[in-house]
This record gives sequence, C-alpha cells and structure tokens, in this order.
Amino acid sequence: MRHKVLIVEDEPAIADTIQYALETDGFETIRLTSGLPALTLLAKEHVDMVVLDIGLPDINGFELCKEIRKTHNIPIIFLTARSEEIDKVVGLEIGGDDYVTKPFSPRELSARVKALLRRTQLPSGLASSPSFQLDESRKQILFFGKNLDLSRYEFAILKTFILRPGHVYSRDQLMNLCWDEPECSMDRTIDAHIKNIRNKLRVVRPDMDPIVTHRGMGYSLNEGL
Ligand code: CA
Repeated sequence: MRHKVLIVEDEPAIADTIQYALETDGFETIRLTSGLPALTLLAKEHVDMVVLDIGLPDINGFELCKEIRKTHNIPIIFLTARSEEIDKVVGLEIGGDDYVTKPFSPRELSARVKALLRRTQLPSGLASSPSFQLDESRKQILFFGKNLDLSRYEFAILKTFILRPGHVYSRDQLMNLCWDEPECSMDRTIDAHIKNIRNKLRVVRPDMDPIVTHRGMGYSLNEGL
C-alpha cells in the first residue's frame, strides 16, 4: 500500500518539486495551496503524513499544526524559510515532528519523509485513523484527541477494531483475541464490554456510534470514520 502525503504549500514551484520527489519515491500525494482546507480533508480522508509550509495565505503553519494535533497524531514535517521559524520549530512545543529548511533538495525532503514514517509507523506502537489514535506503549486510545478511560478488555476490543476497520469480528473471535482465558468467559460478556465502550465514546461524541452491530454475526468499526 502506498503512503499518502498531504503537501500544504502555497508556492506552486516548491509544491511541484515536493510532489515530484515524493511520487518518484512511490508516495501518493495530495496538494493544497492553503491551510484551512487541510482540516476538512483530514477529517474525511486517511493521510500518513503532512508536509506543512509555515507561511500560508490563510493560517500560519504553526497554528494549523496545533489544530491538526487536536484530533490527529499523524507525523508533520515543517518547511521553514527563516531562521526564526527554525528556532520556533525546534524550541517550542508546536507538535511538529521534523523540519526541512528552504531551499532544500528533493532528495533530502524525501529522505526525511521516509525516516519519519519509519519512526512513527506501526508496529512501533502508534496507530492512527482519522478519529482514533492508538498508543500501544501507553495502552491508551484517543478518540478525537480525548483519552478514553478504558478497562483492560475494553482496550483490547477497541484496539482490535482500530487495527482493522470494517472487518466484522464474531463474539468468539473477539473473545479469543482479547481474553487470556477465553473458555472461562460467557459469550455475552462481549456485549457488556461493547456497551461500555459505546458509552465512553458517546461522552466524547454523542452524535456518533463508531461501532457497528451486525445482527447474528458480531461487531466492526465503522470504516468511514
Ligand atoms: Ca509560503
């Protein structure tokens, strides 16, 4: 599967260079010439990384990064033009993961993108979907940026869903995947845990029910989320 990189850069010549370099190296790219549409796009579409210019026509790249960070854990590389910007990227907790200084070589940028993806990709422990972020090492799941206070089994069930959105798991499968001693539990325990998970998700987003019930079959995570 090709990784998808969102390029947010208002100067066409620079965006061309980045796009060409990344596509040559096998990445899929999306281009935006202003910042705010990135938020709309990220809410709908899965993106593996953002290459973000700081001087954008509608919103400062730093502000945009902070907005993105409220709901997404995706890696962000800043494109910086001035030394004071570099100081800010390096010195403050903007939430960026790396930066490249203009002018840069396409090769350098592509190498940074690959290195950052290696650092942040599964199975190193961090998985993210547009609405969920799974942090395996901390045993935490964030839903729209909010940490869900999950029990051990609730965490295991939700993690199973997040790792394979859309896949329907039967109660038996969930039991086998999530329980240490599946034979000791009753089938309906799963239903009770799912109910608890749904309640916790509803606290964050009352308008959403990301877990789908498939009558007579089991449960899945809504793929569209
Ligand atoms: Ca610019």
